[in-house]
Amino acid sequence: MSQGLLIVNTGNGKGKTTAALGQAFRAIGHGFRVCFLQFLKGSWKYGELEAAKRFEDLMEIRALGKGFTWKSEDLNEDIQSARDAWDLAKQVIASGKFKMVVLDELTYLITYGMVPEEDILNTLRNRPPELHVVVTGRDASPGLIELADLVTEMNEIKHPFRNGIKAQRGIEF
Ligand code: ATP
Ligand code: MG
Repeated sequence: MSQGLLIVNTGNGKGKTTAALGQAFRAIGHGFRVCFLQFLKGSWKYGELEAAKRFEDLMEIRALGKGFTWKSEDLNEDIQSARDAWDLAKQVIASGKFKMVVLDELTYLITYGMVPEEDILNTLRNRPPELHVVVTGRDASPGLIELADLVTEMNEIKHPFRNGIKAQRGIEF
């Protein structure tokens, strides 16, 4: 029996989502089924989407509903789509179909109060015992950090954006 870990990649530095992809990549190498769920609208990048098609048998990726944006025009609509996305994530977690579930940019659901933190923490706490869950996003809440087994904070020391270097293919998307 393996022990499912709750892994959190947080902080302001680059590498949270890409580290989660690396973790998923390692898992599928063992033939483990992985579900990668993306919560923030537009956060799913073309590069990983295309790459994941090559591992379709093991890696399921889903951009959940409309997701939500930073600059919302209709907050209620965003809250509803965040809740629908979370309901789907709960089903995926409970399904028992996967060895690893990645909840990419999940922290924002808590930060913006779109889904009650307790609902999220209870779901993670009561997940199948062998299921590894990877959560990414800035500003992981104290409750999430407390519950997690492994927390890594990406700390920005330098980022090319500061020197005016724009997002590049294969690096940012
Ligand atoms: P990545 O997807 O490259 O692993 P991330 O998941 O850590 O990055 P997010 O907070 O999800 O970063 O931000 C999404 C986008 O912002 C990415 O394209 C990423 O390259 C970029 N980004 C991340 N950190 C920084 C930073 N410190 N300064 C500027 N842009 C950043
Ligand atoms: Mg990210």
